[in-house]
Amino acid sequence: SKELGRNMYQLFDQSMSKRNYQSFILERDLRKAIMNDEFVAYFQPRVNALTGKVTSAEALIRWNHPQVGLVSPGDFIPLAEESGLIIPMGKWMKRRVCEQLVAWREAGIPLVPISVNISSQRFLQKDFAKDIRALLEEYQLEGKYLEIEITENSIMKNEETVTKTLEELKELGVKIYIDDFGTGYSSFNYLKTFQLDGVKIDRAFIQNISSESENASITTAMIKMAHHLKLEVVAEGVETKQELDYLVEQNCLQIQGYYFGRPCPIEEFEEKYLLTV
Ligand code: C2E
Ligand code: CA
Ligand code: CA
Ligand code: CA
Repeated sequence: SKELGRNMYQLFDQSMSKRNYQSFILERDLRKAIMNDEFVAYFQPRVNALTGKVTSAEALIRWNHPQVGLVSPGDFIPLAEESGLIIPMGKWMKRRVCEQLVAWREAGIPLVPISVNISSQRFLQKDFAKDIRALLEEYQLEGKYLEIEITENSIMKNEETVTKTLEELKELGVKIYIDDFGTGYSSFNYLKTFQLDGVKIDRAFIQNISSESENASITTAMIKMAHHLKLEVVAEGVETKQELDYLVEQNCLQIQGYYFGRPCPIEEFEEKYLLTV
């Protein structure tokens, strides 16, 4: 019993030294969140700058914590990734999005594609595309209504698996975007290697963009390169008219950011962007 006590103490001590008490609590709550259905999906519109039309939306997770209230992904995604909870969380989100698309279809509301963030952990598993296929079949949805955002890190890890997965997704008509484009690997070689549909230029490059800024030259170069490779370009984090004007000048017409709309609850998204004449 003395032995047992010491072992237990060591176990406790080890786990506590690795993470602090707060993240211990957070992880405990996060586990419960999945069972208790505490996640909420917010949608943010992506707009065509020329027509002003909403062409798609990005699904962004929120956690409605029973004590703390709404928690942003920045505060729990890292822990979710570290603990593996990102997998059931992602599963929840994909289903939530499919459910919503079906609900809109049944209500006669014209669908827009919804883009989902996929953790590299999940994307790199061999059965990822198969799972997407099964999901689309279950909900009787065309692949074009589901889009996937992955980061550069996801794609650089296992070329064989990634190539296969991308091929299968292409077959399904599910579009793939590179998220946070420009912030990861400095080599863009992977753009030639893999069949991708588009890139989303990270907000860091868009901020305060104007013709004189350094960000402007980088962004312009990225837009040119993407177009040259026949990739779509989406600009993220567009907040001002000045940023918008610059991007339109550079022929980057797919815009996401507070300028056109913040992420919002799905009912609000529907009212604001899908039911308007
Ligand atoms: P992200 O994929 O790069 O998503 C864009 C983030 O930029 C979102 O933050 C969005 O609210 C924010 N944003 C959009 N427009 C603007 C703007 O004009 N100005 C500013 N300042 N911010 C803007 P959010 O919702 O806090 O999400 C943060 C990150 O958490 C996401 O970055 C993504 O990496 C991750 N994330 C969110 N939802 C999910 C999810 O369901 N699954 C996974 N794996 N990751 C998620
Ligand atoms: Ca994203
Ligand atoms: Ca992004
Ligand atoms: Ca980001």
